[in-house]
Amino acid sequence: MGYNKEILKKALNEVIKKGQDNRRAYEVEKAKCYDAEPRLRAIDAEFMRLGPLMGMVAISGDTDRLNAIKTKSDRLKNELEQLKTKVGLHEYVPCCPLCGDTGYLGTKLCGCVLTKAKQLSFEQLSVGMPINECTFENFSLDYYQNPADKAVMKKVFDFAKSYAEDLNPASQSVLFFGGTGLGKTHLSLAIAAAALGKGLGAIYSPAQNLLHKLEKEHFKGNGDGHFLEDVLECDLLIIDDLGTEFATSFTQASIYNIINTRLLSGKPTVISTNLNMEELADRYTPRVASRIIGSYALKQFSGNDVRQQKRLENL
Ligand SMILES: [Zn+2]
Repeated sequence: MGYNKEILKKALNEVIKKGQDNRRAYEVEKAKCYDAEPRLRAIDAEFMRLGPLMGMVAISGDTDRLNAIKTKSDRLKNELEQLKTKVGLHEYVPCCPLCGDTGYLGTKLCGCVLTKAKQLSFEQLSVGMPINECTFENFSLDYYQNPADKAVMKKVFDFAKSYAEDLNPASQSVLFFGGTGLGKTHLSLAIAAAALGKGLGAIYSPAQNLLHKLEKEHFKGNGDGHFLEDVLECDLLIIDDLGTEFATSFTQASIYNIINTRLLSGKPTVISTNLNMEELADRYTPRVASRIIGSYALKQFSGNDVRQQKRLENL
């Protein structure tokens, strides 16, 4: 599916709007130049006259006259170029030379729209999420002081990094589990950024926000039902901190629906949680736990609370 519909629509609108603004700015610039050099307008008028005339003369077969007109036209063209250079007026250049700011190449969306969609996805994801601060490059294993923890985390890190590199809409699903503050969110965000960098449609959300939004859509008819559709169909879904949301039968059923539907359609989901397998089974039914255990890559985080250590360092 790539980017969700909402994002693509927004991206297309922005591309078109930017093109219109660009055109308007050019026309203003052009009008100024024409005011400064009135001969430009006169030449334009002359071209308007010569164009159709040339067509008629060509049909009549009068080659001498046709040549005379062509010579005149060439002379005017030269003069026009010189005048434009003199007043500093360049040709109109659209923001995207490929689609001329229409957003389309034939019936397909132009690359400029997809680039814009990528940027918008990043922005949407960055709302309250330090997506640019959580990269693979700045994930430090130094915080895992115990050698056994460090060895475990080195494996988890290597897994996450190569997972992100190979990420595609048919990648395996992953469960990151373990105590608080061990870098699960950091690695999840780094994977999300990698997905967007590849042009995959990714949704990243803390479980609480995700379920709240789904609940609102479900019970109050907020939105147009697209959110659930996007959650079920996006190329990569990342649910952070599963288990911190308020537990209701709705959230329980939703989690099962999301996990099951995405597994059936072969789409990857990355879930992070502080819960262990038993707690997952308790909270979301053994059915959910067995789906996860049976199909997800299970990666357990190990160590002492890294966030707490960072805070202590900053004191
Ligand atoms: Zn374009």
